[in-house]
Amino acid sequence: MRTVFEVDGLFDGERVLENAAIVVEGPQITWAGERGKIPKSPSNERSETIRGPGQFALPGLINCHCHLTLDGEANFDVEVRQSDALATLKAFRNARAALRAGVTTLRDLGANGPMVIELGRAIERGMLEGPRVIAAGRGITTTGGHGFEVGRIADGPDEVRKAVREQVHAGARVIKLFSTGGILGGGTPPEVSQYTADETAAAVEEAHRAGLRITTHAHGAGGMRVAAEAGIDSIEHATLLDDKTIKLIKERDVALVPTLLVVHSLLENASALDPVIVERTRAVSEKHREGLRTAHKAGVRIATGTDAGASFTRHDRFAVELQLLTECGLSTTEALAAATSGAAAVVGLEKAGHIGAGCWADLVFVDDDPLKDLAVLMTPKGVYVRGAAAV
Ligand SMILES: [Zn+2]
Repeated sequence: MRTVFEVDGLFDGERVLENAAIVVEGPQITWAGERGKIPKSPSNERSETIRGPGQFALPGLINCHCHLTLDGEANFDVEVRQSDALATLKAFRNARAALRAGVTTLRDLGANGPMVIELGRAIERGMLEGPRVIAAGRGITTTGGHGFEVGRIADGPDEVRKAVREQVHAGARVIKLFSTGGILGGGTPPEVSQYTADETAAAVEEAHRAGLRITTHAHGAGGMRVAAEAGIDSIEHATLLDDKTIKLIKERDVALVPTLLVVHSLLENASALDPVIVERTRAVSEKHREGLRTAHKAGVRIATGTDAGASFTRHDRFAVELQLLTECGLSTTEALAAATSGAAAVVGLEKAGHIGAGCWADLVFVDDDPLKDLAVLMTPKGVYVRGAAAV
């Protein structure tokens, strides 16, 4: 069965094409280009042509940082103490909420066990409908470190190595480390470094040996530099960047996933939060945007992630991240690339994030050109994953 989607315009992950068509066969895109040049279908093959479902098509969006087991309740400390059974149910529901919002691939950067790994497997086997899931299992942190409430605590290079191996054994598709303190929870504050160079190097080596990417949570510049020197693939949050750190990150080709939505959502709901969290958030917010602007100008790769699941950060508000990126100097085209082709490179799935022959038929349809107004992404008219309509 072959389906031809005709649209007024499409964004292929890098550029816009007007009066376009996409040919989908099974779970794959077999052709994309100008509407007048659609290749003929062999006469024995069934083919249908669909106008839309919206006027504009783009690759399925990619969220490089979320926590499916969390709903974003006001009190993070209480929510993380939930049962594994409830966490699993939430993960399924949140994965579907993200999918309806156009997110066809998401990376879960830490749960209190293998629940999201199992969800990803169940979706891949066709047992459940949902987006593509790349799960880290448990994030790896120090004794008393940020994320200790849900993370795998490991101190010293040997224990860190073992902690990585445990996640690999459980079926993790990415490794998540916590290089510095953070905003939510009772662990160390954001600017404080957690892991030493030796511990970080052990984690990176083990992850890469298993063929996995490794990404790290880091706010403070010192922690980011330790991670970059050790060969980390990407840095999450990156709130307290300085020129020296930006230079190193650029040299090492480390990608940034700034998660602007979580900072924005926490400040939006400051009155409902613990004053310590509000103070920690305010202290990093301005510097965050300034650092990103400089990093972007320096040519550092930036990809979309929202940290959905953290307090007040909803799984269906992915598109707001793109708007926030444009406030930090990215053009709308660059923001769209950060959510598609750029994010695909960060998560290591090159068949996602692009519309072209051989790519996965993960597609989002919207009513108007998102390059004119990114807000149209908030209400997709159609979402396809693996060639099938999900919305
Ligand atoms: Zn997170």
